[in-house]
Parts: sequence; C-alpha cells; structure tokens
Amino acid sequence: MADGCIFCQIVAGELPAEFVQEDDHTVAFMDVNPWTRGHALVIPRHHSRNLYEAPEEDVHRASAAAQRLALSMRERLGCDGVNVLNCCEPAAWQTVFHLHLHVIPRYDDDPLQLPTRPRQAERTELAEVAARLRG
Ligand code: AMP
Ligand code: ZN
Repeated sequence: MADGCIFCQIVAGELPAEFVQEDDHTVAFMDVNPWTRGHALVIPRHHSRNLYEAPEEDVHRASAAAQRLALSMRERLGCDGVNVLNCCEPAAWQTVFHLHLHVIPRYDDDPLQLPTRPRQAERTELAEVAARLRG
C-alpha cells in the first residue's frame, strides 16, 4: 500500500467505493465523476504509479477484468459500446497515481465526443517515427 494513495485506501476498505467486480488481483468500482452512466475503474490491488511502472501481469489482469466488466455492462446496462481508457502521467491526463483502466459504457445517444481531430500524416512522417520506435 502506497502512502496517501486513495485507490490503495479503497482497496483496503479505508475509503468508501461502490464495488462492482473483484478477483484476487483486481477490483472495479464506480468512478465518482462518471463520463456516462456506469463509468467504472478497474485497478490492480497492488500499487503501481501507472502503465510505465506496473508489472506486466498486473496489466494483463486489469485488461482481462476490463473485458469482463465491458461484457457485464453490455448485458446489465444495455450499453451500445464501451471505451477503455488509460491515462499515464499528467501529460496524458493522469490525476490519480495508481494504475487504473477507465471502462466507460457508451450509448448511441450519449453526449461524449472525441477530444481531438485526427489529421492525416505524410508517409515520410510515419516512416520516420516508425523507424525510431523500431530502434
Ligand atoms: P485519471 O484522471 O485517469 O487519473 O482518473 C482518475 C479518476 O478517478 C477520475 O475519473 C476521478 O473521477 C476518479 N476518482 C477520484 N477519486 C475517486 C474516488 N474516491 N472514488 C472513485 N473514483 C474516484
Ligand atoms: Zn495505490
């Protein structure tokens, strides 16, 4: 448990949460500021700051739990789709520093919009960045 981490406190039962799913390695609970009806967070029980630092097994386990939750949302909430979102570091909107996946049920008539306008890249730009990533 990390000092001062609110998600560790939720796992320990020291802060209230509406749990929706649990297993040996993960828990899921409702987000207090939902983007849509049913927005929940899946977290590993074990503390890691974020995707950069988490053990790979925790990423696998949280991803599998997010899939189970998405299927449950489709069945029980009747959503039309689901977004799974992770924010890693403040530059990517992370505000709580314990790895978590947002599982956001989507409805055909919900008001959410893409937060960006993608633009088509030049082939040379793609090739340059791909070469850098291949190393
Ligand atoms: P992020 O910005 O990706 O780090 O997401 C953190 C999320 O945690 C936000 O959507 C918050 O609404 C949510 N959150 C913060 N505190 C709590 C809490 N005590 N219980 C449930 N969700 C929380
Ligand atoms: Zn934590």
